[in-house]
Amino acid sequence: MSILDRRSLFRNAGGALASLLSLGGLSAAVQTQMSPYRRPKLKITDVQTAFVRALHVRVYSDRGLVGDGEGVDAVSGGASIIAGFRYALVGQDPLNVDAIFERLRTSGIFAGAQAGQYVAALSAVEIALWDLAGKALGLPVYQLLGGKMRDRIRMYCDSGTDNRNDPKAKEFISQIIDLGFTAAKIDIDNANDPERFDRVNWTANNAEIEHMIDKVAFMRESLPKRIELAVDMHGRYDVGTAKRMARELEPFKLLWLEEPVPPENIDALRDVRESSHTPICCGENTFLRHGFRELLEKRAVDIIMPDIQKCGGLLEARKIADMAHTYYVPMAPHCQASPIGTMASCHVLAAIPNCLVLEWHWGHPAERMSQWKQYAREGDIIEKGYVTVADRPGIGVEMNDDYVRKLQRPGAAWFAGK
Ligand code: MG
Repeated sequence: MSILDRRSLFRNAGGALASLLSLGGLSAAVQTQMSPYRRPKLKITDVQTAFVRALHVRVYSDRGLVGDGEGVDAVSGGASIIAGFRYALVGQDPLNVDAIFERLRTSGIFAGAQAGQYVAALSAVEIALWDLAGKALGLPVYQLLGGKMRDRIRMYCDSGTDNRNDPKAKEFISQIIDLGFTAAKIDIDNANDPERFDRVNWTANNAEIEHMIDKVAFMRESLPKRIELAVDMHGRYDVGTAKRMARELEPFKLLWLEEPVPPENIDALRDVRESSHTPICCGENTFLRHGFRELLEKRAVDIIMPDIQKCGGLLEARKIADMAHTYYVPMAPHCQASPIGTMASCHVLAAIPNCLVLEWHWGHPAERMSQWKQYAREGDIIEKGYVTVADRPGIGVEMNDDYVRKLQRPGAAWFAGK
């Protein structure tokens, strides 16, 4: 090393030491002085949102690259939460995805960062950062999550109709078969069952139980044996009803019975699981690793189903999957996202060992199917019941802005980023 180089090193070291007074300065010094490889230097310049059925987030950078993310369900107030994140995002290096996530999460511990809208909004930002990071590095996101274990992700079709008296039911079931799906799901809870005695209490009587079983029987009769069937009770019923249903449904050999009781009491869910051989699935209303820890530790589930656009984003979902894998529990994420969020979920599922199947929710009615096909520039990403994981940089699916803007929720802001 020349004298000049040594002087320069000491000068830089002195600069770094002076910066120790602030953690931000230390981080910047580490990045500029000690980076062992020539990675692109990027800064976040803006974050903006749009709202269709889901909350879409776009993160802008000083190199002109943008990243798209998506949050679902718990996002009605998400745009204002993300506006609050803006001060912490602008100026940051978007490649430090997990550091940004952890900073936003821990800085919000008194603002609801444990669950709900805060985490769903944060999930959308996190996904946009991965998209941006992948584009900056020229790599598909699965490569940044540990690499690919499978090339395509098995999808299941959430049903639109499952009642044998509905003249359109057979037509829709034929569509599930024709589209090549190997699994389907139906909802059997019914708040409007005419036999219900009470509008508030959810103890199902014999007639309601018969109606629920008949829906499953009808689907099982209508679908070929090779197509597996899952059943959702939407976390409504009491433990007694849930146990009865889990036992009554045993002959149908379900792929799973989903949220037979509300998600808050994990001991109650474990009671249901231990009462029958029907596999129990839960998790679309559970957030972060911290939410899934107790579900797994108490052996309350056979399958976990985090919603990746809601539970914390892509790396958090990978961490949840890894935790579940230590209990030999597979993951079947909930998903009602657009093709962008769906493909983002597929990058996680490509990278984990315990991937079971991913949800698809857009088959019914016909206009939803039409929206699905036009939402992204890549068109329909599902082929014969599978999504081939995109190999393009980032998520690999780009929003068809001109089309999606027409679906925007009235009054919501459309991306106005710089
Ligand atoms: Mg569900």
